[in-house]
Amino acid sequence: MLPYATLDEAAAALGRNLTVAETLWFNYSANKSDYYLFCHNILFLFLIFSVVPLPLFFISLWRSAGLDKYKIQPKVKLSPSEVFKCYKDVLFMFFFVVGPLQLVSYPSIKMIGIRTGLPLPSGWEIFLQLLVYFMVEDYTNYWIHRFLHNKWGYEKIHKVHHEYTAPIGFAAPYAHWAEVLILGIPSFLGPAMVPGHMITFWLWIVLRQIEAIETHSGLKTCKSVCNRYTEMKSSATTRCHRYDFPWIPTKYIPFYGGADYHDYHHYVGGQSHSNFASVFTYCDFIYGTDKGYRFQKKVLLKLKEGVENGGEQNGGSYHIATQDLKSD
Ligand SMILES: [Zn+2]
Ligand SMILES: [Zn+2]
Repeated sequence: MLPYATLDEAAAALGRNLTVAETLWFNYSANKSDYYLFCHNILFLFLIFSVVPLPLFFISLWRSAGLDKYKIQPKVKLSPSEVFKCYKDVLFMFFFVVGPLQLVSYPSIKMIGIRTGLPLPSGWEIFLQLLVYFMVEDYTNYWIHRFLHNKWGYEKIHKVHHEYTAPIGFAAPYAHWAEVLILGIPSFLGPAMVPGHMITFWLWIVLRQIEAIETHSGLKTCKSVCNRYTEMKSSATTRCHRYDFPWIPTKYIPFYGGADYHDYHHYVGGQSHSNFASVFTYCDFIYGTDKGYRFQKKVLLKLKEGVENGGEQNGGSYHIATQDLKSD
């Protein structure tokens, strides 16, 4: 709740006129409690999870053949009822774990100093804070995820998330309730280290959710296949971009993993010692846990160069890497 009754009072307190964004924020938030503003996250999480994967789901229903060339594992097809079951299971978790967790975590948000007042942060401040949040989340998530791949962690907790060997957007938050709780820590750590405005916090929750859905979309973003290998020839690049799913801006983010990167981790499943990072690729590179994936991509590119028609773009190609990974 803002400590000003009118726009004039707010302008007097700031010593300048409010910007358009600040006026909008004043009109929206002036009479709302900080707790109510914080709880918007529950609505955002629900809306993003329900809406963002939908276009791809409908495209896969109506134009499955056209979509196949963009899919990483096109031979794996889930029926609408299987997709709906995934959505239903996540909603159950959402109402009984994520929602209550959000409701009770408000005191910690106040404690770390997430503010709701004026002035609003600048675009640069928001950008830099979000960058820190993503970096901190990525690093912490890497180690927790890697830990969950030990025998006990995988069998008792992480196995649930790996039920989808060819992930879909709706399966991004599909996990054991304990994993949902544990992975709340990396999401919270960044804002705790560099607390910002509630708007930045909202953006963080929304962008992280969209990123997780994209990472589990099962669509080729090409970058992870093409750009990483300097030995690749330009003809292969041209060929590769034909399968690049359009309208995915994340492919331009340096060190961004993307769907292809995480899809490989799901395909290998419980035996996976590769691609633990949630957002970027640098942790796996530094700690040497992307060797299986990189080797598989090298083999795949050589096969593509050797066979003019490129062969089938399907999960079968993963078998090369999987076997090599197991023999590592
Ligand atoms: Zn895993
Ligand atoms: Zn996953």
